[in-house]
This record gives sequence, C-alpha cells and structure tokens, in this order.
Amino acid sequence: VAVHPRFSYVLAKLEDKFVILAKDLIPSLEETLKVSLKVLKEFEGKELEYVKLEHPFLDRESLVVLGGFVSREEGSGCVHIAPGHGEEDFSLVETYNLRIIMPVNEKGIFTEEAEEFAGKNIEEASLEVIEKLREKKYLLLHHKIVHSYPHCWRCKNPIIFRATSQWFLKIDHSNLRQGVLKEIERVKWIPSSGLERMKAMVEIRPDWCLSRQRLWGVPIPAIKCQNCREVILDEKVIELTSQVFRDKGSDSWFTLEVENFLPPNFSCPKCKSKEFVKEEDILDVWFESGASFLAVLKTNPDLSFPADMYLEGSDQHRGWFQVSLIPSQAIVESAPFKSVLTHGFVVDGEGRKMSKSLGNVISPQEIINRYGAEILRLWVASSDYSEDVRISSKILNQLIDFYRKVRNTIRFLLGNLYDFYPSRDKLSLSQLEEVDRFMLSFTSSVFEEVLAYYESFAFYKVCQKVYNFCNISLSSFYLDILKDRLYTYSPNSRERKSAQSVLYYILRVLIKMIAPILSFTAEEAHQVFLNQENRQISIYLHNFNEDIFPHYRDKELEKKWTKILSLRDTVLKKIEKQRESQIIGSSLEAEVILSFPEKQYSFYKDLDNTLREVFIVSKVEIVKGEEKIEVRRAKGKKCLRCWNYREDVGIDDSYPDICGKCLNALKEERL
Ligand SMILES: [Zn+2]
Ligand SMILES: [Zn+2]
Ligand SMILES: [Zn+2]
Repeated sequence: VAVHPRFSYVLAKLEDKFVILAKDLIPSLEETLKVSLKVLKEFEGKELEYVKLEHPFLDRESLVVLGGFVSREEGSGCVHIAPGHGEEDFSLVETYNLRIIMPVNEKGIFTEEAEEFAGKNIEEASLEVIEKLREKKYLLLHHKIVHSYPHCWRCKNPIIFRATSQWFLKIDHSNLRQGVLKEIERVKWIPSSGLERMKAMVEIRPDWCLSRQRLWGVPIPAIKCQNCREVILDEKVIELTSQVFRDKGSDSWFTLEVENFLPPNFSCPKCKSKEFVKEEDILDVWFESGASFLAVLKTNPDLSFPADMYLEGSDQHRGWFQVSLIPSQAIVESAPFKSVLTHGFVVDGEGRKMSKSLGNVISPQEIINRYGAEILRLWVASSDYSEDVRISSKILNQLIDFYRKVRNTIRFLLGNLYDFYPSRDKLSLSQLEEVDRFMLSFTSSVFEEVLAYYESFAFYKVCQKVYNFCNISLSSFYLDILKDRLYTYSPNSRERKSAQSVLYYILRVLIKMIAPILSFTAEEAHQVFLNQENRQISIYLHNFNEDIFPHYRDKELEKKWTKILSLRDTVLKKIEKQRESQIIGSSLEAEVILSFPEKQYSFYKDLDNTLREVFIVSKVEIVKGEEKIEVRRAKGKKCLRCWNYREDVGIDDSYPDICGKCLNALKEERL
C-alpha cells in the first residue's frame, strides 16, 4: 500500500474499527460512508513507511511504501499497489525490494498465487473477492467510479498490465550510452535542432525491450534448458542459426526441430542436460530496421559504411535514427550515418493535417496526372521541409507560374542562340560589353550560390534563387535590355556576339541549376542545344563544376553595377510617371538627363551609351550639377527599324525612315 510522504494522515476510530487515511479526505469519506470519524492521532505519511500490513484474506504480509503519485482528490490517500500489474507500482520494486506478485496469467486467469481464486477469470473473480471482503467485514463501501483506463488500440478491450520476463538491450552496458552520445555529436543533423533533440532522448532513454510475444517475426536465437529452465544465448548456437537462416530463411526457426540449431554435443552450461526448447519470443521490429545498415551497407560492394545520409520524417528521432544508432555503436562503434535529414509532414494550404473526413487530401498521383511530375518535384523542392509542408491548388498554381517563367526564359535563350556556335562565335572576356561582363560575373555568382544550396540540401533556396534569377535578373532586366542589340544589330556584330556569348553561359548554367528538379525540362533544353557544340548526349552525363569559372567573377564590377541598377530603379519609376501622364508612350520615346555633383559625375560620365541601353531609352545625357533626374520626350524621329528616337533618322536619302546606327547594321549585313 502506498501513501504520500508529505500528506498528513490520521489514525481514526470508525465504529468498532480503526482506520488510517489522509486527513484532507476525512470530510468526503464521512459523507460517502455516512459515518463520523474520531481522530486519535495525526502524523506525516512518511512516518508510515515500512509499517507491516496483513492481507485481508490471504496469509501474506506486505509493506507501506511511499509514492509521490498518491493523490488526495479522492479515496483514502492509501493506494493499493501491485508491482506485477502496473508500471508505477513496478517502479517501487527496487527501492523496497518488493516481491513481484503477479497472480494473473497471460490469458487473464488467476494463478495458484491467488489461492482459492485460481483458475478463475479476473472479471468473475473480482465479484467473488468483493463478497469475500464483505464476509470478512473488511468492506466499507462498494461502488462504481468512472475513470480513464488504457485500452487495446486494436480490439478496444481494457488492458491488464503484467510484469513479464523480456529480453533487453542494456543501454548502459560497457558505456554504450556514452558512445552513442559521442557519435551523435559527430553526425551532421539537418536541421541542426536534431542534434539536441537526439541527445536529450538518448540521455534519458531506458533499456530497450527487444522481445515481443507474437506468433511470427524474426526469432531471438536463444534456447532454454528443458531440465533446469536456464535461458542460453550462446555464440555457437547463434552462428549455426544464422547459417540455417541463410540457407532456409528465418521461418525455419518455427518449422525445424531445436536440434538443427545446436552445435554437436551441446549441453546446458549449468546442468549439462542435452534437452532444449527454442525461445518463442520474437525481436522488436525496430531492431530489424535498426540493423538495416548491416544488411544493406555492409553486404553491398557498391555501397559504403557509414551511409552518407538517413532521411525520414522528424518523428524518427525516436524511431529509426535512434534504433539504428544503438546497434551500430554496439557492433561497429560508430554511427551508421554521416548525416541525418528530417522533414515535416504534408499538410493542406491552411496547415491542417490531411484527412479523408476533411476532404483535403491531395495525392501525388493526382498532381502528376493533372500537372505532370515536374510540378510535383518542383513543389517538393520549393518547400521548406524543416517545418510541415503545405500543399493546395493555390500553391500549385504559383508553381505553375514559376515553371512557365523558367521555361520561357530557356526558350528565349535558345531562340537567340540559334546561330551561335561557341567554338566559332564565343568572345573572350576582354571583348565583351561591360554589361555583359557584369552578367557573366553575376550569373557565375548565382551558380555558385545555388550549388552551395544543393550541397546543404536547401532545395527551397535553390528554387527561390533560380526563380529570382529568371524573373528579376533576366526577364525584367538583362534579356529586356538586350532586345535592341539582339534584334537590330548586324548578326555578326561584336555587340551581338558579346551578348550571345553571355547568353550561352547563362543557358548552360540555368539548365544545370534546374536539372535535379525540373529534370525533363532540363533534358529537353539540353537536346535542343546539343547540336551546336560537342556535348554529352544527356545533361546527366555532365558535371556541375564544368561550368564554374572563377575568372568570370569580378566583384568590383558587380559593386559598380549594383549602383547602376539602383539608379535604374529610380529612373524607371520616373519614366513610368511620364508614361502615366502621357508625355511619352513607350520608354524609347524618352530621353534621360542625369545631373550629378562632381564625384558621382566622374563615376557616370562615360556611361551614357551603357545607361541608354540599361534604361531602354533613346538617349541619356550626363551633366555636372545638382543631383537631378529628368525624363523628357526624346528629340528626333522614330527609326522604323529599331524604334529609337534619333536625330540622324533619314541621314541617307534612300532610307528616309532609318537611323544612322541601323544603316550601318544593314550595310554590314549586306557585306
Ligand atoms: Zn486487443
Ligand atoms: Zn540446464
Ligand atoms: Zn534604328
């Protein structure tokens, strides 16, 4: 019987009996029993420790023990405990050296331990026990109460706890726990919070119960002596068993006689008997998953130990990751993995768990059928898996826009490289226009960043980077400003080749950046591109690092262009305003006058032609003075070929609608 060490208890007279109960429970007990108690003595619960008690009808002595779990909400404050039938109760066994009495067998029938109730089902016997107590005048009250109680998850029947003999892996055996904790520190956890989570779990985990009482599974290769009941786990028996399993499968444990697993002349180490029976327990299935590194990595010559990565949902810290670490540390003294990546679970657009009753389930097959596997892969890659991952048709539609943006960018690049053969046309770095050199440098910086994201499994950052590259850097800037050079300059002009040389690099890099995610699109683009140069027949036969050229990077130039691009933002806003007030139509109808004080003036003064291209206007003038940006209607006439407004349109009488620049381009083309 357990009492709380710090509650006040009393010895009281109840009619002709003496009772001990928690002081706080006197009023409620008096009311329930409709009696009045006379308190004789008061003391703390801990004073009752080790008081000996007599069983009400069996010849058995028991102890009063202390338990922090005793409550004073109801009852008497004195709780009957049964170490053979309850977890909390069992935890007191060691402290008080209690005998584990377990009078109920695995069928729910009382054993000989219950003496006159032996052989009876516990439900029917319970009623008889009540009668017995009443008869002996020990029963003060019998009534039913409602309380929570564990039930079988499968058949919903109430559970009876029984303390049974099991096989355990002792986590503190020969410093195993310490070894595992050390290995946890060496593993790379992605996200990094996995490290502390795993450590905290292993620090407090109990021994691992390895045995299960099921009809079928992977058997525990132990035998029992028929004569002295000794349980034997013998290395030779295990070796022989593993040989038999290799030949005939692990089911042979259940079909073959025990002799098949015994080495010649094997006898019980304790009593020398030669009669044995097989262990009937099977192994916890987690032990099998935990030992998978042995079966998979250590037997396949194409694989190596430890694994580069174990990848699972974040619930597996308690599961697979932990059950793999323990046997691996015990057997090979190392973690079975170099890194562990965990991800959240898929939830709907509002973050709710998917369920049939909510009707919010989206299956992968549905997405593939409707949008294709590229979109599904893009969704996976673009999700930040360190948290739960959302999916909804709105999210998918955004990804379809993403996909279109990338695909259209590739189409534009391919379209403008139709006549470009790198071995013939590619310009060297020093021959490039400055904006092209900047884009070359910028593209290689994007590529380096993306590769680093791939290395750290930050796929959603890859997606963000690629999308911004296509949408902001290319579509809204570089490809836009190049149109003039690509379409109006002579096909063989240095200016056009300069642009193409950089577009060529951008295309190569873009295809590679998307290849792991938009695999079919990348391969499709590669196939179109293939004929123009000596390349492998598949993008997947190329390496990422073939396109890393450190000398493309020019950080000074990138800095300079960060400034220019920020000026561009301001200028574009001004142009937009002029357009709104209908002073100009397209931006080519505008000319921009930039006025800068001395220092800025010297930075910009030679950039007029570059800025004209960058702003997509007909003219840029840079003057010294107070800082000011002016956008006004361009002077001159619109050239019918390049749509720029220029004062030299019609300079050649035979081409009255063509500007001087276009005239040169036409002449070159004719040559
Ligand atoms: Zn059940
Ligand atoms: Zn024996
Ligand atoms: Zn023109």
